[in-house]
Amino acid sequence: MVAVSVKRVVVVGGNFGGLAAALELKQELGDDVAVTVVSASDRFLFNPSLIWLPFGKRKAPDITFPLAPTFDAHGVEFVHAEATAIDPTARMVTIAGGAQFAYDYLIVATGYRNDFDVVPGLGPDGFAQAITTLPDAERAGAAWRDFLDDPGPVVIGATQGASCFGAAYEFLFNMAYQLRKAKLKQHTSLTFLTAEPFVGHFGIGGLPGGEKLLKMFLKKEGITVRTGVAFEEVGGDYVKLTDGSKVPFAYAMVVPPFVGQDVVRAVPGLTDGKGYIPVEDTYQSKAYPEIYAAGIAAQVPVPWQTSVPIGIPKTGFPTESMAKVAARNVAAAIRGEAPVAHKEFGEMAAVCMMDAGNNGVLILADHMLPPRKAAVMIPGPQVHAMKLAFEKYYLWKSRHGYVRLP
Ligand SMILES: Cc1cc2nc3c(=O)[nH]c(=O)nc-3n(C[C@H](O)[C@H](O)[C@H](O)COP(=O)(O)OP(=O)(O)OC[C@H]3O[C@@H](n4cnc5c(N)ncnc54)[C@H](O)[C@@H]3O)c2cc1C
Repeated sequence: MVAVSVKRVVVVGGNFGGLAAALELKQELGDDVAVTVVSASDRFLFNPSLIWLPFGKRKAPDITFPLAPTFDAHGVEFVHAEATAIDPTARMVTIAGGAQFAYDYLIVATGYRNDFDVVPGLGPDGFAQAITTLPDAERAGAAWRDFLDDPGPVVIGATQGASCFGAAYEFLFNMAYQLRKAKLKQHTSLTFLTAEPFVGHFGIGGLPGGEKLLKMFLKKEGITVRTGVAFEEVGGDYVKLTDGSKVPFAYAMVVPPFVGQDVVRAVPGLTDGKGYIPVEDTYQSKAYPEIYAAGIAAQVPVPWQTSVPIGIPKTGFPTESMAKVAARNVAAAIRGEAPVAHKEFGEMAAVCMMDAGNNGVLILADHMLPPRKAAVMIPGPQVHAMKLAFEKYYLWKSRHGYVRLP
């Protein structure tokens, strides 16, 4: 009998996309595949809860868990290291320190990095806070505590090219709630500056009745809104827009655009100008058939033009779907079968709970992007409770590796 060598799959990134892809693949193929996850972080991070961290409602241990025990329990090799190079010809991933991992198939789930360069004055050395990574949110928390001692106007925003609008809105409404709790609401102003063409576009073309509903909430909270804006500069106490106007602040949180990670960008022909990987509906790279991409690392073409460019949010639910599609197709390729799963991003269902401190809005749609047959927005305090419960459920199911639950 001729020994059949076990195929090696390397997954780079171990968060929403990487965890789901690695576990799904292992469940598909068991001992017929050797899966290695290389992750720069040794912990899973439930990014949606970063909106609460600056206000002290969550700390890092509440919204993270160590990845190694989960992967160990499911027969996946876990390497805590940054991947520094991918060689698509030699089919090799190099990690910091120089060790190399050969692969037959590679799944890229490296997510995003903040592009603070888009506007001077953003980023850790700048003047506006961010909440899009754990260190950003921790810094935003320190700045919030300082603000409470010396309050003033508050600006929340999302720049040109941004895509994570949901988080900007959630932070905005949580801010309104926290200002009220701190009895500062009457003494401060709250301004929302967004590159979206209209309130509630969210980077997904808006939802029926969404603009009206959000405008009602914004009015109720006394929030001033400017849509379709582009940021020119953030100074020590002001945001300057490209129309020349200046908005003063004592506290600002601005969501920047996301781009793909440098290690992926460096692979010739693999990515677009933003560092995202163009993929087929099988989540297979258009340039290298043995490379797959899932989550934010995968390119989703923007199907419309806006006067100020904005991106499409690749949220947790579609990320997990993409990861499972990619994993099932890698499994099919290993079995020598044709791809089994196909799903375009725009046709995936949209399920999102937007939090507002003690209230929220549930968004359900049959498709992420228009045209849609069904879409609803359901507001109410029950959504806040659902979001709290979902965080616990998602961390629990991910820690235990239950990727096949709905
Ligand atoms: C503030 C905020 C709020 C959000 N709220 C929601 C929400 O309410 N609902 C929702 O559905 N989605 C939400 N999202 C989006 C959700 O977090 C993303 O969809 C999800 O994180 C995408 O998963 P991913 O695996 O593609 O990328 P990521 O979660 O970014 O994971 C990428 C992983 O790759 C690792 N990595 C990066 N580079 C390397 C490298 N060179 N080598 C090895 N490892 C590397 C990183 O350390 C990270 O662990 C929110 C996001 C943010 C930032």
